Amino acid sequence: MKGDILVVDDNPVNLQVLTALLQGQGYKVRPANSGFRALRSAQAALPDLVLLDIMMPEMDGYEVCRQLKADPASENVPVIFLSALDEVFDKVKAFECGCVDYITKPFHAAEIVTRIETQLRLARMMRELAERNAELARLVETVELKSRALEEANRVLESLSLSDGLTGIANRRHFDTRLDADFRRCIRSRQPLSLVMIDIDHFKSFNDFYGHQAGDDCLKRVAEAINTVFRRGGDLVTRYGGEEFAVLLPETAPDKAHIAAERARIAVRELGILHNASPSETLVTISAGVAGAIPDWTESPSSLVKRADAALYAAKKDGRDRVILEGFEEIAK
Ligand code: GH3
Ligand code: MG
Ligand code: MG
Repeated sequence: MKGDILVVDDNPVNLQVLTALLQGQGYKVRPANSGFRALRSAQAALPDLVLLDIMMPEMDGYEVCRQLKADPASENVPVIFLSALDEVFDKVKAFECGCVDYITKPFHAAEIVTRIETQLRLARMMRELAERNAELARLVETVELKSRALEEANRVLESLSLSDGLTGIANRRHFDTRLDADFRRCIRSRQPLSLVMIDIDHFKSFNDFYGHQAGDDCLKRVAEAINTVFRRGGDLVTRYGGEEFAVLLPETAPDKAHIAAERARIAVRELGILHNASPSETLVTISAGVAGAIPDWTESPSSLVKRADAALYAAKKDGRDRVILEGFEEIAK
């Protein structure tokens, strides 16, 4: 079936001729001899096209067309007007009513068929376009959803790549990035930057004595204890490697960093983790070295690490379980 056409004409001869003509072309034809019947037929089932006479008693073609266009269900059904040349035919009014074309009577069979085919093709293309637009909108929505999921996954990945798998605190990579950034920022703002390097005492013998699993558990608890001490905005507690931790304290003077590091040392002691293999103590303890200053470009970020490391080394040498502030190494000896 090529199409379902509603043919409306109050003249029975016209209706018969048009019906025969279009049926002969393979269309399904619904003849209607009044505007009311036409509207009822269109409501019952939408036709693909309406061929509509203008001059009809009771309800003229303009009104039928207006009513079809006013109903969202039938507004997209193309309407072609049929009008006799001797009628006062207002083309502008016809288009204002929403028709897509008009044919004047007496009509030529070939013209009617061509114009109907053209409008049906146009209507089909419009429908396809609307479907494609809807499909496109669905695709865009899917892509947006996917890209949001991807962004979220990237955020998770990034935070994973910056945190240490065992302890959950920041990792060495995070430390390196932040050290550089904090160093530059503190140069600009002329604020001090302090660094605390922490190392668990006699951890090798702890591992040897209690086993690697117990060593891991101990590392986690020590990391948590240290992490709870440094809580100011900007403070960053990181696992520097093995059983070493590095704490970055921007906008913090070294003496203040020293006090905080001392609190961390006490917090680890207070965990009360037994270390019976330790040559000096019976509890797990940490040593820490503190360095800091208002940075400038005569130095590099890595030299700050070296200085804090040197203070940590002095704390180890001095007997462990202590915090040494750089510049006080000799006094410690
Ligand atoms: P010191 O007091 O001088 O720091 O002595 P130490 O034994 O702590 O130092 P050393 O550097 O000789 O040994 C560090 C040990 O830390 C070696 C290794 O067994 C342990 N360790 C490092 N990373 C991990 C880890 O991820 N898990 C566990 N369980 N142990 C670790
Ligand atoms: Mg070590
Ligand atoms: Mg150690």
